[in-house]
Amino acid sequence: MSDSTRHPDSCIFCRILEGKEEGTFVYRNSKASAFLDIHPLFEGHTLVIPNDHFVDISDVSEDTLAEVMKVAQIVSNLMIKNLHAEGINIMHSTGRPAGQTILHFHVHVLPRRTGDDTEFQRWWFSRSHRASRQELSSMVAKLLP
Ligand code: 5GP
Ligand code: ZN
Repeated sequence: MSDSTRHPDSCIFCRILEGKEEGTFVYRNSKASAFLDIHPLFEGHTLVIPNDHFVDISDVSEDTLAEVMKVAQIVSNLMIKNLHAEGINIMHSTGRPAGQTILHFHVHVLPRRTGDDTEFQRWWFSRSHRASRQELSSMVAKLLP
């Protein structure tokens, strides 16, 4: 269900936006904001969120999503210019099984450098199973019935 108001009583990110909790802001405009993650995976790890409360990828409006990604690009460019990041990961989780812990839509922007965390890289590339043509056909048939 779409719900684009703020939830300052129940949502920590709405509280940060309202100035009721501390937030270290990197960028703000009328539609989206970026602030440092309190548990940084890498130095400069930033969260970009809509200023209105949307829960997840299926809830967020199309124009807000576009604005969040524009801000993610602005933050990425700051990281490249000022933190000398050599690469960027942009990550998002929708739903608890995917690891979403804060139910206010957000993307993580992670500045990366060569060799900064080989475990992180190993995790990403560990999906080594190569699907057969049959498996791929069966998957797409389920996705597009
Ligand atoms: P998720 O797991 O939902 O994708 O990411 C939520 C992120 O929010 C986590 O990386 C967590 O460290 C961050 N976070 C949780 N509470 C706070 C907070 O009060 N302030 C800030 N700046 N980040 C938070
Ligand atoms: Zn919220």
